[in-house]
Amino acid sequence: MGETGRGMKAAKSESNWIYSDFKWVSEKKARLASKSRERLLRSLSGGVRYSFLQNKLHIGKLSPGCLICGRGYWSCMFINRLCTANCFYCPRDRRKEQPPRAEKIIFDRPKDYVAYLEKFNFKGVGFSGGEGLLVFEKLLTYVNAIRDKFKNNIYIWIYTNGDLVNKDKLRELKKSGLDEIRFDISARGYSLDRVAEAVGIIKTVTVEIPCIPEDYEILKKCLMQMKKIGVSHLNIHQLYTTKYNYRNLIKRNYTFLRQELIPVLESEMSALKLVRDALNSRVNLPINYCSAAYKVRLQSKGRRHRFGPFVKDEFEDLTDSGYIRSILIKGPIEKIKRIIKILRINNHREGYLSVKDNQILLSAKLLKYINLDDFDLNIEYFQPRIGESINAREKGKGITLSSRKKILIIKKPIFRWEGFSSAAKKIFQKLSAGNIRLENIPKCLFRNYNLDRKESIKGMRREIESLMTIEKLEHLEKGFPEIY
Ligand code: SF4
Repeated sequence: MGETGRGMKAAKSESNWIYSDFKWVSEKKARLASKSRERLLRSLSGGVRYSFLQNKLHIGKLSPGCLICGRGYWSCMFINRLCTANCFYCPRDRRKEQPPRAEKIIFDRPKDYVAYLEKFNFKGVGFSGGEGLLVFEKLLTYVNAIRDKFKNNIYIWIYTNGDLVNKDKLRELKKSGLDEIRFDISARGYSLDRVAEAVGIIKTVTVEIPCIPEDYEILKKCLMQMKKIGVSHLNIHQLYTTKYNYRNLIKRNYTFLRQELIPVLESEMSALKLVRDALNSRVNLPINYCSAAYKVRLQSKGRRHRFGPFVKDEFEDLTDSGYIRSILIKGPIEKIKRIIKILRINNHREGYLSVKDNQILLSAKLLKYINLDDFDLNIEYFQPRIGESINAREKGKGITLSSRKKILIIKKPIFRWEGFSSAAKKIFQKLSAGNIRLENIPKCLFRNYNLDRKESIKGMRREIESLMTIEKLEHLEKGFPEIY
């Protein structure tokens, strides 16, 4: 499926939308916006840094929590759902209270959550909500349990709107081992009073807000004040759509992008302008722009890399993007036997599995010993994900966390391809080794494709599309996504 198609499908499941209700970016507006974004980015060069395959733009250092997130070692724990505020952009369902959850799994005992963090080697935990301070005692119990178990080997932060923050609570949080507190000041009319109370008590105090285009001037004025009171970091997010906020976002007449999470165009432009203003005014405050593309790409990659190894077979590989890749080659028995012999001679006793006399499953690193022209090539990709139940068509593996808590890692098939042409097999070999760039795939296939019949053109187009999909399953996309 093309980029647009994939974005649309994701968008539909995200928002429960009515397509015609959204003001989608027009072709003309997308072109103009791309140009002004390019200009803005050029004006920032020299003053900003890019991290995580250029998916994150920032001034100065990132908070330790954001570094852990980008590296894929962060667990987001939704400690509750109710909130004292009612932000128009709130992406969550806050209608009724819910038990603590991470990755949609209920962890109603701190002990089980600690076992989960240990099993999957997390290095950081962020407590989100609702407003977590509404369940303050529960929050403390979880923070204490995590700190007791991991000592200084884990980084813990909470998100709050500040409504219930006071010095006593802050001191208790500090005592329990909290490293960082992040305030959504837009929920309290951009007041920094509660933020100032936290400075000097909690080691790292961060302001983390969505970039609301209409509030741009207010936020700009806050920059210097934040610096003065001792805020360590400002994190600004791109507004995006869920089924809980899309009606409110539509009412504000925003322009929506046809990408996963359905981000708001004006939010990104305002965030970049704010970064430019911060540089021009030399405010010297670390600022991190967290785009919807970053969330989709990096956070999902982190999840796949975390859960994939638990369900990957030894003849399968985890791609750079974290998908599980399974390769099957089929051919004459004699040739398959010869391959096995070559692999053994080269000391490869693992990484492949003979499934039938004429078929072997094997890791991509062994493809260099094989002339693929002699064989049929079948490739399948799986997405690892975590769940509490499994449906009949899915494969999974149970992981026991405690006598009362078991979770499942599911290996969900997402893409399969067979019947490669000789030219496509060669490109696949290059792709899996990271030796070809996405934009070079069409011309490389075109040069080597056997166009001996009229129908071959259709076949070639299908192969180009499949190879482009494969490339995205192999490698994470870099930089700002196209505006469309
Ligand atoms: S403070 Fe956070 S959880 Fe509460 S309504 Fe606002 S965005 Fe939602």
